[in-house]
Amino acid sequence: MSVMQIVYWLAILGVFSFLYWLGAKRAVTLWVRVLSALVVGIVAGFIFGDAVETIKWVGDLFVRLIRMLVVPIIFTTLVAGLLSMGDPKKLGSIGSKAVILYMMTTAVAICIGLFLGVVFQPGIGIELAAVSSQGVQPAAAVVDRFLGIIPTNPVAALAEGDVLAIIVFSLLFGTGIVLAGDKGRPVGDAITSAAEAMLKVAHIVMELAPYGVFALVAWVAGTMGTETILKLLTLVIIVYVACVLHAVLVYGGLIKFFLKLPSVRFFRGIIDAQAVAYSTASSSATLPVTLTCVEENLGVKPSVASSVLPLGATINMDGTALYLGVVAVFSAQVFGIDLAMTDYVMIAVTVTLASIGTAGVPSASLFLLSTILPVIGISVEQTALIVGLILPIDRILDMARTTVNVSGDAAVAVTVGKLEGELDEETFRKVATV
Ligand code: ASP
Repeated sequence: MSVMQIVYWLAILGVFSFLYWLGAKRAVTLWVRVLSALVVGIVAGFIFGDAVETIKWVGDLFVRLIRMLVVPIIFTTLVAGLLSMGDPKKLGSIGSKAVILYMMTTAVAICIGLFLGVVFQPGIGIELAAVSSQGVQPAAAVVDRFLGIIPTNPVAALAEGDVLAIIVFSLLFGTGIVLAGDKGRPVGDAITSAAEAMLKVAHIVMELAPYGVFALVAWVAGTMGTETILKLLTLVIIVYVACVLHAVLVYGGLIKFFLKLPSVRFFRGIIDAQAVAYSTASSSATLPVTLTCVEENLGVKPSVASSVLPLGATINMDGTALYLGVVAVFSAQVFGIDLAMTDYVMIAVTVTLASIGTAGVPSASLFLLSTILPVIGISVEQTALIVGLILPIDRILDMARTTVNVSGDAAVAVTVGKLEGELDEETFRKVATV
């Protein structure tokens, strides 16, 4: 073992012991630990470079644990939430408010993305000749996607983790339990108690978040070539600035001016979910954490949180939308295409549909570019070149957009909660506990 390796392993051991010590003290709340892990992870990645590959498995372990929770948490909390609502009709009002808010925030996100792309021109001066092209997968047809939300076999939907299909089945099953009256009560009680138990499992898993977040972020920072980042630096900066602007203006504004609640509390309450989203780049995998944060730190009742959040994790992708907007403008600049007003409108419409159709998994939207770029006259070959260009840095862009995606779900859950009278403001105003 070389001296460098010994230093590396001592440093990693030191970080893990430090995180453990912070946790054992109990005085340090989880979000502070997770945030510290994130910062230390970035620093460790830059110092040790490729060597951090050796601890990536810690991050993978954590991701597997939270992904394990996704299906049982959605199913049990959604059915339990529906039962606690008492009146299944209320679900219509919650659902429609959520969908309208999701659409409105996504529209603003695209405008921010397009605007920054036009003003800062990240695509000017980029040479594409040296980039190898990547295979671009065609997206599923809209009709098929729409039909796909009805599971032909609910057990298969659960087994495959098909979120929209699980939502549909859980809602129908919950409605069935309500309609069954007294006879449905035992199964209703069992699922409600299972939901409680699942949230406790989520707490156990979240105790591992600092270690997982550290390992994942160190891995990204250590293995991402600085050269590729520098080449596309303007694009990276624009996407990050757009993400911060969107979160602060739209979500902060919504909470502060529309709901008249302290927006700092909102961001503080979801910081664990944001850190997990940032490090995993998957809003579906983050869902169990988002649910726990929104219910326990922000006081949104399970009836709202458990229906609005899983829906948001699949259809609401503001970060993705603003990213796609920036990349569309970027691509037009790379190929010297002048965009007219109608082109921007076309981009906005396609991006909205694409962001709904994007799965909440890493790099999902990168491959959707094949559905967006053709609307402004970019050919399939050119699209493949753009995908090849962005691919090496996609992870750091994905981390930022996923964080916004998850924050947007939480902001809408709080807003719908407040509008429906299902928000415990005392909890919201209190200091975060998990
Ligand atoms: N990774 C993103 C998410 O899970 C989706 C995307 O690729 O934009 O939210």
